[in-house]
Amino acid sequence: MRFLLLIILFTFSLLSFGQIQRCSTDEYREVLKEKFMYNSHKKQDKRQFFYPSNGNYDIPVVVHVLYNNDEQNISDDRIFSQMETLNNDYNALNIEINDIPEEFQSVIATVGFNFCLVQEDLNGSPFSGINRVYTDSESFQGFSDGMKKSEEGGVDPWDVHNYLNIWVCDLNGNTLGFSTMPDDLFAFPEKDGIVIDYEYFGVDVSSTSPYNLGRTATHEVGHYFNLEHTFSSGCSDWGGDGCDDTPAVQYATYGCPSYPQESCSSNDMTMNYMDYTNDACMSMFTVCQAERMIDALLTYRTNLIASSNCSVSVDDFVSSNHISIFPNPVIDFLNIDIQNNFVTIFNIYGQKIMYEYILDNNKLDVSTLSAGTYIISVDMGHYKFTKE
Ligand SMILES: [Zn+2]
Repeated sequence: MRFLLLIILFTFSLLSFGQIQRCSTDEYREVLKEKFMYNSHKKQDKRQFFYPSNGNYDIPVVVHVLYNNDEQNISDDRIFSQMETLNNDYNALNIEINDIPEEFQSVIATVGFNFCLVQEDLNGSPFSGINRVYTDSESFQGFSDGMKKSEEGGVDPWDVHNYLNIWVCDLNGNTLGFSTMPDDLFAFPEKDGIVIDYEYFGVDVSSTSPYNLGRTATHEVGHYFNLEHTFSSGCSDWGGDGCDDTPAVQYATYGCPSYPQESCSSNDMTMNYMDYTNDACMSMFTVCQAERMIDALLTYRTNLIASSNCSVSVDDFVSSNHISIFPNPVIDFLNIDIQNNFVTIFNIYGQKIMYEYILDNNKLDVSTLSAGTYIISVDMGHYKFTKE
């Protein structure tokens, strides 16, 4: 009887605390290779790149939130916090950057990618960049790609050449997320993008998980731009991640090791985003990784930066003034020449900031908005104004 109880307890603990799979991108590539006779493109070259690592590229993102219940339907704030984490991490603005050991400080990179939620939907209408879709599927099998197919309860990707598609859903098993690599764009355009379990998307301070700071997306976006794991070839000579400035590491590192931790006769860069440590314990890309990602962007994913859906193109969908909106710039109250109607205000990243009903006094209180440029959307069109 005691034995039986032990078995039950053991099984329960396995089910409850099964080993987390930090990232399944490598396994996903193997599945693609086997299923579709695909010649995996894992690169073993050490190419030299000549692109500056101080570029400034806008990357338009659409987030597909697939939900079967309220918990899976994560808040706008969680999604915005993910965008903020990505933008901090890809511009070396994350707070942990000061704690990086001196040995690695000279190779810390500012990648220069700015991620923004797309501002228009596929019909050219103002859009939040967050595509919420109810699904009958309670969860999705990791590599089935069901989340990427509308006929299987998922949602088809938006034009993969022009958008970084991120699916947020409940993933079966213990996988936090996985991504396609740039070559997959040509082999499997319908699969291109990143999938992340809803529990690990964005910053969730109420979570006790060590993966609650949005670094799963930082890591998977690295794969999306052609980065390999820092440990991908162990201690072998050829440097499996294609970067000389990431020391060879024997194994993936979980948890939060104290520095220095050594393998392959050198100190491990466990704080690299492309290792497997806890969210709070990863904090940098290297110069070579940045160059590799910029090369991937300019080689495989050029349409992303050519796309006109990021903050740089606000003017593209602003109507010429048919209604009177003043003063502009505004400090407290915006006078709008409409009555008894709803208005929506978006920021330049397409995030809905305000939704208000305008009574017959034509006034909208915008005093609480931070200074900056906004789009106000009414029935008659979209108009730009500046808050001082
Ligand atoms: Zn990975």
